[in-house]
Amino acid sequence: MRLQFVGSGDAFGSGGRFNTCFHVVGGRAVFLIDCGASSMIAMQRLGIERNAIDLILLTHFHADHCGGVPFFMLDGQFVSQRTRPLTIAGPPPLKEWFPRLMDTAFAGSSRVTRKFEVSLVELAPDTPWRFRDVDVLPTIVRHGTPPESFYGYRVTIDGKVLAYSGDTEWTDSLLGLGRDADLFVSEAYIYDKPVPFHLAYTQLVDKLPLIRPRRLILTHMSADMLSRTGSLAHETAEDGLIVEI
Ligand SMILES: [Zn+2]
Ligand SMILES: [Zn+2]
Repeated sequence: MRLQFVGSGDAFGSGGRFNTCFHVVGGRAVFLIDCGASSMIAMQRLGIERNAIDLILLTHFHADHCGGVPFFMLDGQFVSQRTRPLTIAGPPPLKEWFPRLMDTAFAGSSRVTRKFEVSLVELAPDTPWRFRDVDVLPTIVRHGTPPESFYGYRVTIDGKVLAYSGDTEWTDSLLGLGRDADLFVSEAYIYDKPVPFHLAYTQLVDKLPLIRPRRLILTHMSADMLSRTGSLAHETAEDGLIVEI
């Protein structure tokens, strides 16, 4: 499995980073995990082939994680000339959210006849879902209301495990989500002062002996965290970074 950080930033463009988006190639699938508002720009910059992407897996409905979906859809319709089906999967209420987002971004666009088929899949928490040879296990994390609309994911391809926290404050569900993962990508928005709905680096470090990931990469960092990356004991993401798992 190969993961590229298309965007490793927070919602505010801290450090000039793009919003959250990971491009994953593994098994018989090419997919995105999250597609933030600036992700189309970032994909263009990295030369990512949009028509090869079959699945967009969304963690939650904040614009820095999903705001790029309307641009992706219009790109498929008018620029990339997409014909391949696209699956968009995520927490409920994905099916209600999708047309609303499309019409907010481009008025009337939810009713346009598309040149490619779109399947919307609402995933149930703690219930495995399989896309081709990709096993996806959604876990509820703690990042807002309603609680069931915020997921982290444990993704298994060919026996290799990629875990992603999504956006969250500390919750014990991260223990199972990240346990023994080959790669655990975790948000670490702040250094040591917990704020609602986000994780402090020091909180994560305290729990790491219980999670024991083989590799940890921190993402979604605030300006304060970014100013400390040189002195942290753990690896941090950068836009464009490629990781082989
Ligand atoms: Zn968020
Ligand atoms: Zn976010």
